[in-house]
Amino acid sequence: MKIAIAIIIVLVVAAIGAAIVAKRRSPNAELTPAKKIMPPTQMMPPGQMSYSQLDITERFGDNERLKPDEWISTQPLSKTTPNGQASGLPSADATNDEVYAIASKMSQIRESIAIPNDGVYCPICHIANIQLAKLHAPCPKCGRPLLKFGWD
Ligand SMILES: [Zn+2]
Repeated sequence: MKIAIAIIIVLVVAAIGAAIVAKRRSPNAELTPAKKIMPPTQMMPPGQMSYSQLDITERFGDNERLKPDEWISTQPLSKTTPNGQASGLPSADATNDEVYAIASKMSQIRESIAIPNDGVYCPICHIANIQLAKLHAPCPKCGRPLLKFGWD
């Protein structure tokens, strides 16, 4: 008799256990197809962060203070970014032509995306202007075509 009761208890416990396992599995089972559709999250390894411009302005919101014809001086990211070359920035001793070539490639990527409030800059003269209409117009200082510039 004791054995029979023990068997029943074991069966009940096993049934409860199976029910809990089934409950735990069912949400996973629902998630599985979604997981397959979702692309795997790609984490950027450190140092692989890519830039879309070579210069920045010192203060946030500089563009809001500028008049359309005003120019503001910009700071090269390569001077303030440690190990900047790993992130696609030019080396400290890069020539103007090398710097401009890198900036031009970055600008092409930025030009393919419509970003509100983008302006223009010259990565050689380190000046920027809020008028995107000046894109590819000659830089007022060096004559190189102006490139797309983000303010934030
Ligand atoms: Zn220039």
